[in-house]
Amino acid sequence: MESYSGRMALLGLLQASGAGNTHCADCGVPDPEWASYKLGVFICLNCSGIHRNLSEISRVKSLRLDFWEHDLVEFMKKHGNLCAKAIYEAEVPPFYYVPQSKDCLVLREQWIRAKYERKEFVATSISHEACTSGSREGFLWKRGRDSKQFLPRQFILSASDGVLKYYTKESKSPKAVISIKDLNAMFQTEKIQNPHGLQITYNEGGRTRNLFVYHESGKEIVDWFNAIRAARFHYLRTAFPTAPVSELVPKITRSYFKEGYMEKTGPTHKEIFKKRWFSLDSQERNLIYFKDPLAAFETGRVIIGSKEHGYEVRASLPRGVKGKRWKAGFTIVTPKREFVLTCENDREQKEWMEALNEIISQPMTA
Ligand code: ZN
Repeated sequence: MESYSGRMALLGLLQASGAGNTHCADCGVPDPEWASYKLGVFICLNCSGIHRNLSEISRVKSLRLDFWEHDLVEFMKKHGNLCAKAIYEAEVPPFYYVPQSKDCLVLREQWIRAKYERKEFVATSISHEACTSGSREGFLWKRGRDSKQFLPRQFILSASDGVLKYYTKESKSPKAVISIKDLNAMFQTEKIQNPHGLQITYNEGGRTRNLFVYHESGKEIVDWFNAIRAARFHYLRTAFPTAPVSELVPKITRSYFKEGYMEKTGPTHKEIFKKRWFSLDSQERNLIYFKDPLAAFETGRVIIGSKEHGYEVRASLPRGVKGKRWKAGFTIVTPKREFVLTCENDREQKEWMEALNEIISQPMTA
């Protein structure tokens, strides 16, 4: 009879060997301390919590705390993360958003369900056709621009027409026809205060327009997100036919690099400081600000160029300029104007400056 610690050592060895077990099979964090002995994968604590709800297809044990029977150790030895990946991730479409540990729960849960429960990515599967085409129709709860209430709206996405449209109940003509060229989507569960909250952005008359939507079903909202990604991927491949897929994938959708409240003054630095919600779009090199986190339209933006073009962040306010309530601040120096911003505390100031400096240090691309 092998000892408990003997089994532990064996599982440790399994993880050390080249079977891909050094990182969580589902979210990629290092040193997974749990395993599914039904699927034969090594996973992290967070993902084990999701597997626990899928008892039909997965059973989990702690590598450290639970007893491992001889057969189970043998099973883990034969399987492992690389082996499972070859089966369950055989055909993940290039546009499909594969979440990481920092992503919201609905994305991580639906990824795990899509892989093992619905088997959407096993070879010869046809079940992911629904979102691969980049076309989709259905109702989403949309936050009203003025009423701020969530109401059901019909959305129609068509990759072939290159548009996303939505309709109110009453009208026959669409409320908005959004070009897929300018479309972006990101999960924003905290900001929208809904575990399935999705922010859709596009360009309307040179300004960022936000739509905030959700669906009661986690599967539905993640399918919508991936359908939008499929449509965007289709557009990018048509627009940049010679670009390699690896260059297009990061451009499909993007999340904001950093978001939060700051206070800003006007061009003469004598205007009263106003509290605004800021979203830093690192890919588009824009610091966009809004009256509040769920505003329908942007109020303004600062283009973040590069060091070579004279952009700089200074950890101080210009001489004689004082914040209204918030004292920690910084100045964004651009060739045309200095933008003065104040933050709630020193930590926020540091984080904003680091984020902005990261963009400024990157050269501009055509
Ligand atoms: Zn994980």
